[in-house]
Amino acid sequence: MKLFQCENCGQVLHFENTKCERCGYKVGFEPMSLQLRSFKGNERRYCKNHEQGVCNWLVNPESSTTLCKACELNHYIPNVQDADIRKNWRDLEFAKHRLVYSLLRLQLPLNSKSVEPESGLWFDFIDPDQVVPDDAETMTGHQGGKITLSLQEADPAEREKNRVNMKERYRTLLGHLRHEVGHYYWDLLILPFPHRLKSFRAHFGDESNDYGQALKNHYHQGPPPDWNRHFISAYATSHPWEDWAETWSHYLHLIDTMETANALGVSTSPRVEDQASAMAMVADVDPFLPIDFDSFLEKAVALTYAVNSLNRSMGQLDLYPFILNPTVKQKLTFIHNLLLEVREASSPGTGLI
Ligand SMILES: [Zn+2]
Ligand SMILES: [Zn+2]
Ligand SMILES: [Zn+2]
Repeated sequence: MKLFQCENCGQVLHFENTKCERCGYKVGFEPMSLQLRSFKGNERRYCKNHEQGVCNWLVNPESSTTLCKACELNHYIPNVQDADIRKNWRDLEFAKHRLVYSLLRLQLPLNSKSVEPESGLWFDFIDPDQVVPDDAETMTGHQGGKITLSLQEADPAEREKNRVNMKERYRTLLGHLRHEVGHYYWDLLILPFPHRLKSFRAHFGDESNDYGQALKNHYHQGPPPDWNRHFISAYATSHPWEDWAETWSHYLHLIDTMETANALGVSTSPRVEDQASAMAMVADVDPFLPIDFDSFLEKAVALTYAVNSLNRSMGQLDLYPFILNPTVKQKLTFIHNLLLEVREASSPGTGLI
């Protein structure tokens, strides 16, 4: 993500800030410009969910809408009487807003199902301990443009327990959302286009294999022993759709992390012999431009080596506990090129912003 600054006093701000701690101005995120705006009075209008403490985005003051670009994607939200439930919902919203930032940054089609019933997107944040609506799921997943996330996943203890039980290296709310939205964009960007479907199958395999059976087999037998030579995660081996969603989520992980590193001016030059040049990196690429993607990935790998080492110094899990093998790199490149093509098609001749 970008770094943001207070427009009034220059203080560096976080994406989630609602107020500048230095000058006291109100702060809100404007999705049109992808900027944080500083303001004093009522000249800008917050999303209605600002009252709930879960959103700092702005809505167009001229429009009659009350919810922002990110919150209008909500279908079901939990009943938030209880402080714990409110906190869990807030954590889900913070992750969702970061997801929506990336989708807007990538200029991907993004409309609420309330506006586009066929091709739009909805989020159901479901608390399985409350009364679940008849047309809602309780399991985390995606179905026809509806992404369900169980509120239980927002409980850190629950999530860590699930991570260990599922033998996962990484489990976060943002990771869930990036994965599930990958399924949504597969339906939207791959399925209707025969030339894309053909290249998809060349990279990820034939998705017409029985999905339910494939998942059953995966949970029963586990991944093939050499999975990390061809896949980004063990779960990606279960079916081409899951491989796609896992790889898609990693594409978003990597471009967001590198955008942040670029904004911070991060570079590394390890003081070791022999391997120093392979491990050195300068975060000077904007992943949203048509870049040399191989070199981007090399820099990303060097960066993750550095940040993983820092995390280990603090006794934390690795920031990025994954290996980008050559096959995964090809899959990521396929996604990168696809997204360039989609952006070109949506704004021909205008280039990329
Ligand atoms: Zn300020
Ligand atoms: Zn909002
Ligand atoms: Zn999935």
